Amino acid sequence: MNCPYCGYHDSKVIDSRNVNEGVRRRRQCLSCGSRFTTQEQLQSASLFVIKKDKRREEFSRDKLLTGIRKACEKRPLPTGAIDKLIDDIEAELYHLGKVEIPSAVIGDMVMERLKSLDNIAYIRFASVYREFADISDLKQEVDTLVGSGISVLRPTGQLSLLPNNRAGRLARSRRRRRR
Ligand SMILES: [Zn+2]
Repeated sequence: MNCPYCGYHDSKVIDSRNVNEGVRRRRQCLSCGSRFTTQEQLQSASLFVIKKDKRREEFSRDKLLTGIRKACEKRPLPTGAIDKLIDDIEAELYHLGKVEIPSAVIGDMVMERLKSLDNIAYIRFASVYREFADISDLKQEVDTLVGSGISVLRPTGQLSLLPNNRAGRLARSRRRRRR
């Protein structure tokens, strides 16, 4: 497996643990030194994700990782927190013992965990996954965060909180009002 951080093809095993479903290995990239976890299991447990448009797609840990990493971009998370989050979700998914899982179920699992990990990452992920059917839902979430003193302003170049940048405008108008 290639390093999820730099793509290098080789890693060394620094810890190996038997779990119910197979073997879990903690690896360290031989190029960048990043640590990540792999899990080997019987291929019988193929898992398909049912997308919103009803298409089916084989579950991809990498794809989930990409989405979560994007939401967590530049957030001060403890080392290994994202790996652990994905490990947990993967284990839970396979424990469900189902062949097909709606993408919304996986989205909920991620949001539930992100919420306790990092508010901003949670909002970012939720705005993509849940598409906040009603914009007032999202405004309410953002207001809660603003009220708790957590900055929702984003430096240029960082992932947008909202697809249409409404959060940025919201935050700016708030700043103006405070002056
Ligand atoms: Zn690497």
